[in-house]
Amino acid sequence: MDSGALVPNELTNEMVRRRLGEDDADGFLLDGFPRNREQAEFLDNTLRNSGRTVDMVLELHVSAEEIVRRLNGRRMCGTCGRSWHVEFNATRVEGICNACAGPLHRRDDDREDAIRRRLQLYEQQTAPMLVHYQEKNRLVRVDASGPVDAVGERVAATLGARPNYSATSPQR
Ligand SMILES: [Zn+2]
Repeated sequence: MDSGALVPNELTNEMVRRRLGEDDADGFLLDGFPRNREQAEFLDNTLRNSGRTVDMVLELHVSAEEIVRRLNGRRMCGTCGRSWHVEFNATRVEGICNACAGPLHRRDDDREDAIRRRLQLYEQQTAPMLVHYQEKNRLVRVDASGPVDAVGERVAATLGARPNYSATSPQR
């Protein structure tokens, strides 16, 4: 993960399979999974085995330059784990967490070379997979440019527009 590469399919698939088998997984949102065709087929099969299906795939669309800008400025607190951003969600004192005064650091996979590598993997593996869901009429693209609140409102409106969804569904 630190180099910007992805975790092997077998490992991720097994984690997802176990989690979706738990009692409270009758409604769920997966973030960053599936990332490739093999994972998508695994997910389809796993859900089919329990009489379920993927209802919606939400693509948060934003330019590559914006992704690099967002990840480059991201800072994590080493003590409490909170996430900050030098430009969009800055702390009062540079390098120090507002919540617990712990030291901030960059995740190794947020460095520019690792970010470029992840974007390349996305284009190679993840973007083609969207066609799979588009053919099933499950894909919805949301404009993810702009401030966090605005994107959040667009996502909530998209989910709320579907009869099967409520924006206030319990989350874990
Ligand atoms: Zn902190």
